[in-house]
Amino acid sequence: MSSASKNAPPNKEFLNQKPSNQKLFSQAVLNWYDEHGRKHLPWQQDITPYKVWISEVMLQQTQVATVIPYFERFMQEFPSVHDLANAEQDKVLHLWTGLGYYARARNLHACAKKVSTDFGGNFPESVEGLTELPGIGRSTAGAIASISMGINAAILDGNVKRVLCRYYAVEGWPGTTSVQKELWLIAERLTPSERCNDYTQAMMDMGATLCTRSKPQCGVCPLAPDCKSHAQGNPKDYPNSKPKKDKPEKHIQLIMLQDPEGHILLEQRPQQGIWGGLWSFPELAMKEDALKRTQALMGDLATEQQNWPSFRHTFSHYHLHINPVLIQLSKRPDSIGESAQHWYNPQKPSELGLAAPVKTLLNSIRLAQM
Ligand code: SF4
Repeated sequence: MSSASKNAPPNKEFLNQKPSNQKLFSQAVLNWYDEHGRKHLPWQQDITPYKVWISEVMLQQTQVATVIPYFERFMQEFPSVHDLANAEQDKVLHLWTGLGYYARARNLHACAKKVSTDFGGNFPESVEGLTELPGIGRSTAGAIASISMGINAAILDGNVKRVLCRYYAVEGWPGTTSVQKELWLIAERLTPSERCNDYTQAMMDMGATLCTRSKPQCGVCPLAPDCKSHAQGNPKDYPNSKPKKDKPEKHIQLIMLQDPEGHILLEQRPQQGIWGGLWSFPELAMKEDALKRTQALMGDLATEQQNWPSFRHTFSHYHLHINPVLIQLSKRPDSIGESAQHWYNPQKPSELGLAAPVKTLLNSIRLAQM
């Protein structure tokens, strides 16, 4: 929490700065980038809108080191937007497994289909056109436009927000509309008309490597002489945190039905809601008796119940307490329920999109079978 009140109006100091100061800012950022910025990341080679788009979506909430292998596998499987458009959704979700935020992968797929079908594989060459595509917000559109098309467009991803909030000591949580507006105004004014592609990469890089969340390296930062939070001695107070609110807790049972060959029943979840389109175990409310409920569906095929230790999985808006129950079946039943089903062989994993806790549980089953 900032030492100043979190309800203070957004900082207006920027608006009083003369254009020459704004130019000095971008020049300092570009000079730093020329000397220290990363230029060898896989998506920075033979730059295309497609590569920038995929990397930007993957980098939302995830660090560069984690993203690199995902990006490389993606490019290998889907070298062009047409390849991605023509892929099975399961294949896309499978290659996304572990990155979380699966709605992004589904939007990525929907967007590829649109670009491939409606635009012949070419991304629209304007921020407005890009933001009309599924899952492309203003900042991602700005990154694609500036980095791959040389258009003078601003971005405001998490890294850039952090640098700007600290540099101008912007008060208020950046999730609020007024602070967002303020930051976009700043970002747009600072983006230079020349070398905007390098400037965009430089700002992202500066936030990721220099003005980091927990260890800002002000001692070697070219922005330090005019950085307000540095002068105040409290960079880590910015950006101000989201006002705390306790997340609700939910409890469920995940039923792992195992046939005599050790295969496990997975069901595809509806496209909407958590883990949309991914494969998971049948779910049951806590108050239900898992064995009795299974026997009600498939008679005495369900022979035995094992309760596994529960664990917690956190989503952005709630905590989910997962109580896994393994139920042994004496025979594989005919189809149950209406959703798509798959008997998953833990020893020979199929290429399916799996939510992280489901993947972990399947791996534990595989180890228990060895
Ligand atoms: S001086 Fe420190 S707080 Fe300010 S932008 Fe640089 S690294 Fe961030």
